Amino acid sequence: MAKISIEYDVIIVGVGIAGLSLALYLAEANKKHRIVLISKEALDICNTSLAQGGIAAVTDQQKDNFKKHIKDTFKAGLKTGDLAIIKQVINAAPACINDLLNWGVEFDKNGLNFDLHREGGHNQNRILHKSDQTGKEIHQKLLAAISKHQNIEVLEKHTAIDILPQKNKGMLLNCLNEKGLEQFIPAHYIVLATGGSGQIFAHTTNSSIATGDGLAMAARIGAAIQDINYFQFHPTAIYEEGKQQLTLITEALRGFGAHIVNEKGERFLFDYDTSGELANRSVVASAIYAELKKTNKNCVYLRLKHLKAEELSHKFPTVIEQCKKRGINPFKEDIPIIPAAHYQCGGIKVNIDSETTIPNLFAIGECSRTGLHGSNRLASNSLLESVFFAKNAAQRIHQRLTDNANLSQLIELPKTSDSNMLEPLQAEKQISFLKLKSEIQNRLSAVYHLKEMENELEEHEAWLKAQLKKLKVMKQHKSLEFIELKNILEVGLLFIQAKKNQFKVPESIQN
Ligand SMILES: Cc1cc2nc3c(=O)[nH]c(=O)nc-3n(C[C@H](O)[C@H](O)[C@H](O)COP(=O)(O)OP(=O)(O)OC[C@H]3O[C@@H](n4cnc5c(N)ncnc54)[C@H](O)[C@@H]3O)c2cc1C
Repeated sequence: MAKISIEYDVIIVGVGIAGLSLALYLAEANKKHRIVLISKEALDICNTSLAQGGIAAVTDQQKDNFKKHIKDTFKAGLKTGDLAIIKQVINAAPACINDLLNWGVEFDKNGLNFDLHREGGHNQNRILHKSDQTGKEIHQKLLAAISKHQNIEVLEKHTAIDILPQKNKGMLLNCLNEKGLEQFIPAHYIVLATGGSGQIFAHTTNSSIATGDGLAMAARIGAAIQDINYFQFHPTAIYEEGKQQLTLITEALRGFGAHIVNEKGERFLFDYDTSGELANRSVVASAIYAELKKTNKNCVYLRLKHLKAEELSHKFPTVIEQCKKRGINPFKEDIPIIPAAHYQCGGIKVNIDSETTIPNLFAIGECSRTGLHGSNRLASNSLLESVFFAKNAAQRIHQRLTDNANLSQLIELPKTSDSNMLEPLQAEKQISFLKLKSEIQNRLSAVYHLKEMENELEEHEAWLKAQLKKLKVMKQHKSLEFIELKNILEVGLLFIQAKKNQFKVPESIQN
């Protein structure tokens, strides 16, 4: 069997906030660590770039404190989060913010202090932001920061397909490069930072890359997956008939005084929760679904016309621009909205050092399940989680690389029977893949809304299994579309299984 030398110490699959922070922490720990970052699309296509609201941290110790942020996080997660983890993350949040500032990220200020926003579920103003483009600011500044490190390489348009653990001698990453060629990249450690899986549902705010690839890859080699039934739906995405990927309207607008009204212009949320628009997002999303069912309508509305136009334009330029793009004048008209799949609360199970249950495999960011969120995420805690767990992963990997300086430098290449030039997908097949994807998304959305075990669940599961079986015999179509579709099916099946397990728990202790 052919042997190749290990080129990299660490492969980081994913170039969002999690992957970029990890690369920076590792490069700062030792400029000799050989690091490669892999992104399946252009670098700016990820959920990080889309984040609007901001990042939560206690920075104003006069009005706020850690206990309050911990309490809000635990409460939003319906008391299912891991309190020990929550405390560690929240207490370390100001240090994570400092790291971002040191890497060049800027947040809006009021004089010398940060201009802090408030979002649903937070009892204080504690969201640092850069107008409503915080994710873009963070992503661009971190990309600029990594370009200064010679030991960080970036491979764009490379799609990770599978991980091949090498019996404690390192790891191999099987991927598809930008020319459509299959490739094996060896390393001592692999870190999955592949983001979420919102693309498994009929409506999502997530970027097109969010097809659960890391989750599916980890599950295929037996990594523990947890809480994948807990998906957060964002209550305010702009409704557009027939569209799957929807534009989010930041929750900070509700904190700023926006109202949610039904077709008759009534603020119906108080019928469901005393906090009205400021209830946490899962409460607001469920109330909207209940209202839509009751009124038999496709959408409800976000009302801004009672707010000051000048302040809105200054604080929420993206929202205003997105409305105008769709011919809506938000200063005069209500904005049609519906909830959309937004955040994967569960994922690849990791410990405090971001280690998965597979040796030498780590997971960070939205693809991981850390215990911070429990069954529901508090708004703006996920960017923070990504930085915190990237830091811990970096410390652990750095320590292991330093302690094991004599790691094997050679790795065996697996035998492949396939030609490594993969066939491009025919146009005809592409259309049938798109149809199949849309059917899967509709079925999984239906499953999401089931409140108890019903025959329908078994029927959806059997259908998904049958599609996966058909897909697996089409090996020659190892295109990006094929890889993503297979991952969506596998993540969908994990979601259904987790949902079934949830229904087996007596209702009194479900959340
Ligand atoms: C519209 C929107 C608004 C949000 N607003 C906020 C907010 O205000 N505050 C907050 O805290 N959170 C917010 N979130 C959530 C937050 O943005 C994400 O949880 C976070 O950015 C995830 O970062 P990540 O690095 O884990 O993943 P991402 O930023 O999604 O990056 C994933 C990376 O993995 C790569 N990748 C995926 N699969 C493969 C593969 N097979 N091969 C190679 N590369 C692959 C992608 O190319 C990409 O580079 C928002 C999310 C959305 C969608």
